[in-house]
Amino acid sequence: MSEAGDLVVVGAGPAGMAAAATALHGGLRVTLLDAGPAPGGQFWRRPVRTAGPAAARAADPRHGRRTYRALSAALSAHRRTGRLTLLTDHHAWTAARAEDGFTVHAVDRGRAPEETAVALRAPALLVATGAYDRQLPFPGWDLPGVLTAGGLQALLKGGGVPAGARVVLGGTGPFLLPVAAALAAGGAKVAAVCEASGPSAWVRRPGPLLRCPARWAEAAGYAAALARHRVPVRTRTAITAAEGTGRVAAVRTALLDADGSPLPGTERTIAADTVGVGWGFVPQLDLLVTLGCPLADAGDGSMAAAVDGGQRTGVPGLYAAGETCGVGGAALAVGEGRLAAVSVLADLGAPGRPNPRRLAAGRAAVARHRAFARAVARAHPLPPGWSSWLTDDTPVCRCEEVTAGAVRSVCADGSAADHRQVKQLTRAGMGWCQGRMCGPAVHGLAAPGQPYAPAERLIATPLTLGALAGPGEPPSVPS
Ligand SMILES: Cc1cc2nc3c(=O)[nH]c(=O)nc-3n(C[C@H](O)[C@H](O)[C@H](O)COP(=O)(O)OP(=O)(O)OC[C@H]3O[C@@H](n4cnc5c(N)ncnc54)[C@H](O)[C@@H]3O)c2cc1C
Repeated sequence: MSEAGDLVVVGAGPAGMAAAATALHGGLRVTLLDAGPAPGGQFWRRPVRTAGPAAARAADPRHGRRTYRALSAALSAHRRTGRLTLLTDHHAWTAARAEDGFTVHAVDRGRAPEETAVALRAPALLVATGAYDRQLPFPGWDLPGVLTAGGLQALLKGGGVPAGARVVLGGTGPFLLPVAAALAAGGAKVAAVCEASGPSAWVRRPGPLLRCPARWAEAAGYAAALARHRVPVRTRTAITAAEGTGRVAAVRTALLDADGSPLPGTERTIAADTVGVGWGFVPQLDLLVTLGCPLADAGDGSMAAAVDGGQRTGVPGLYAAGETCGVGGAALAVGEGRLAAVSVLADLGAPGRPNPRRLAAGRAAVARHRAFARAVARAHPLPPGWSSWLTDDTPVCRCEEVTAGAVRSVCADGSAADHRQVKQLTRAGMGWCQGRMCGPAVHGLAAPGQPYAPAERLIATPLTLGALAGPGEPPSVPS
């Protein structure tokens, strides 16, 4: 067991980096750990060491570059003073409440395949573990060549690899735009972006968009890039099937009616060797649920950590920031990270606090970005009729090969009312991914319209028995 200073921050994305920098600035000693090889999270993902210049170009943080550089410089300076311990390649697999704070159990995978157990103890814990792509199944979604939109983006930013030569993107939400723009800039032909929503929601309620001019400018930049590369954006359209023998060769798309069901007679087939699909994101709540953190409806089909105006959860000493509190983009994550650190400083009685005017401005910015996130959720809902494009033999849980028909049958006879009960009866969600991939879809079939809350997973990542039983060596501090 290692004393990890005053605060452990799990997740070094925009939220975790900002929180750590603010807490360090206020005089605390911080341990910041991340499962990835470098800080940055999804938005500021860095290329892997062996990647070439294409990855460096794709990962260049055009948006928020100044913030990224300032946070990186602050963290490096605090590492030199010894007040920040940065643990990369460390995956926190569980966390527990202790008498005087929290114990975070992690595995060090810096020398993979070797795994070393690490246990960190601190009086305060901030969970900033981000989110992951929400997937809705469709016939053929298990064909090689069908990826998540986030996966396509990660390949580009991490390795400079456009996953295919001719790509179709589908789903809903503004995230499809940067992915399409990056793929086109990386040399792929983006044959279509199929956006399930229409633009009318934004036109009806433009307020939050107008109050966030930076987001508006960012979207306009992507729209211009797509126009330059002649990428067609088809609204009110969904990918309803992927086809191919051995790997994907084409997608079928259809216009959607007001309920989100495919309109008969509007189907078309588009040739593609790669398909990227994203229906927004699901907050990564494993550690928070295990610690007993209350959840709240995020308004986008998922539950998120319930926090007060200072990012405090309902568990004393436990804080959450960024996409664990609801999906809203990097600027919101940075703002919430800072607010969380200010609360930690106050709660631990640390002398350093930001001046009240700066704090009020930070709170106002977070409120503005949160309102924008709610507007995005309203404008890009999951189409209620999405399950109508599943055939009974469409796999829903790919790990355990459970079909839509099997899920439907336990729901139809009243045996299962949510994804947990479906899991008990069909094994959907019991495999390697522990329902991260299929959970939201299984829940959508069992309890349409109800927000998805993940089941408790005491072990947040698969780990070896050796690491599980390991004595917990002191954390190694990478140079
Ligand atoms: C795959 C993907 C790609 C994205 N790409 C973009 C993009 O290109 N542009 C854009 O505007 N938005 C993108 N987003 C949205 C983006 O995630 C957010 O806007 C922003 O990065 C949120 O910041 P965050 O700090 O809350 O979370 P994240 O940036 O997701 O950071 C969370 C960090 O926590 C770490 N982590 C998670 N669980 C553990 C654990 N148990 N132990 C240790 N570490 C852990 C992760 O490795 C990650 O580094 C993407 C999201 C995803 C899921």
